[in-house]
Amino acid sequence: MEQASLQSANASVQSVDAFLQNIKKEEKEIQTLQQHIAEKKKCIRNYKQTLWTICNHEWVRDYFVSFDDSCKYYCKKCDLWRDKFYYFN
Ligand SMILES: [Zn+2]
Repeated sequence: MEQASLQSANASVQSVDAFLQNIKKEEKEIQTLQQHIAEKKKCIRNYKQTLWTICNHEWVRDYFVSFDDSCKYYCKKCDLWRDKFYYFN
């Protein structure tokens, strides 16, 4: 009886360790994915900055934006907003 109880306690400790390892592994994976997301966002930001610079923009009014939105015009070629500050701040 005592031995069975000891084995159960060992199994439980192993199980706790396994769960802790799994949690650490998943957290590390999240950290890696977050770094990937940050890199992708930076990449998109660079693309938009370049696009903003090279496109021969044709601005059109967006009538779906709210009346108090600071920018109401977007380019019908590159789809960027007319406010350069959005991309270069
Ligand atoms: Zn454009």
